Amino acid sequence: MARLVMKFGGTSVANIERIRNVARHVKREIDAGHEVAVVVSAMSGKTNELVGWCRDASVLHDAREYDTVVASGEQVTSGLLAITLQDMGIPARSWQGWQIPIETDGAHGAARITGIDGSKIIQHFNERGEVAVVSGFQGIHRPTGRISTLGRGGSDTSAVALAAAIQADRCDIYTDVDGVYTTDPRIVPQARRLDRVSFEEMLEMASLGAKVLQVRSVELAMIHNVKTFVRSSFDDPADPKPGTLICDEEDIVEQQIITGIAYSKDEAQITLRRVADKPGVAAAIFGPLADASINVDMIIQVVSDDTVTTDITFTVPTADYERAKTILEGVRDRIGYASLQGATDVVKISAIGVGMRSHAGVAARAFRALAEKGINIRAITTSEIKFSLLIDAAYTELAVRTLHSLYGLDKAA
Ligand code: ADP
Ligand code: ASP
Ligand code: MG
Repeated sequence: MARLVMKFGGTSVANIERIRNVARHVKREIDAGHEVAVVVSAMSGKTNELVGWCRDASVLHDAREYDTVVASGEQVTSGLLAITLQDMGIPARSWQGWQIPIETDGAHGAARITGIDGSKIIQHFNERGEVAVVSGFQGIHRPTGRISTLGRGGSDTSAVALAAAIQADRCDIYTDVDGVYTTDPRIVPQARRLDRVSFEEMLEMASLGAKVLQVRSVELAMIHNVKTFVRSSFDDPADPKPGTLICDEEDIVEQQIITGIAYSKDEAQITLRRVADKPGVAAAIFGPLADASINVDMIIQVVSDDTVTTDITFTVPTADYERAKTILEGVRDRIGYASLQGATDVVKISAIGVGMRSHAGVAARAFRALAEKGINIRAITTSEIKFSLLIDAAYTELAVRTLHSLYGLDKAA
């Protein structure tokens, strides 16, 4: 007997028929003698709808009430799945975050889990042989007693954190693709499914735009060594495929130089022209942005030819773009720049692979390949196991496909 956490995303619980299909996956594991805690997302599109309603009600809404509204999507699916399992003769009950409890900090809308008490769920396994159907995405901020949510895609994190808390043998993340691919299979049909991917690479892929797993879920899987698979809820419930295992680097036999390509449109570019080229200027620009909790990612400072002024380009999250511009306009006199230019029609393309540690010139090949396609690179950043390029959003697909082929990731025709 094993103890399992099974997580089902929005597409997998999109309607009653799909929920019944989820119940069949759960039944398979119960019939095999396992203890099961299921984590469910809201029906696909539901969270977007709820977020939209909050905005319609008031643009500047109370984040605590936002959480009350958006957490409701998961409450519906947890109840519906419990009803469906009961209908199939399987003892089951729903659990909301506050009932377990899943405790979080008070950062409403993007809360972090601070602790989970798995004892009641385990007690129900032992005493009632009951499936626990847990609402993903939500928790409770104990000091205020308010409902909190974990940020978009947060049910992945609920699942992995719960698996750690109840010492599950495995956490299966069921979604609408049958594993982690070398890039988003929706934009590159030649993408290949990976049997295994290392925690570090998955962390980078998720941070750099591959939304198949929420970043925090990968961090938790790595820290608590949770055996996590990404697999498909659309496989035959009687005979599913194992999917992709997220594991230690040492457990991967055949390592490529590049494992995956990710892209993110969540970044905007800001360029300050003719900034005074003197000590303290970078602090004058980036200090106020940091004070406003705006994350600056790529930074390029051009060496000036007149030694008096220089240009500085950097990126900020698209959601913070307008705020960043307003802040920089506010401190314009202190920084002393001639003009501020911005662009939101940009995309960050990244290549990730632990093999980059031991191979030189990997990024240089990408620069050449993109140049041959006439794609201009606006900014570059590199780190030990990835490099990222900022380009015009219009070239997203072409650039992802070009790099995917360049590094030999296309599946055999
Ligand atoms: P869920 O609702 O099940 O949480 P998501 O939509 O959050 O599902 O994540 C699954 C989606 O992630 C896939 O449909 C796919 O388009 C996208 N995706 C992006 N990059 C990758 C990748 N490298 N491998 C697999 N899927 C990816
Ligand atoms: N329903 C939430 C969202 O759409 C959480 C999740 O699906 O993981 O972001
Ligand atoms: Mg998701």
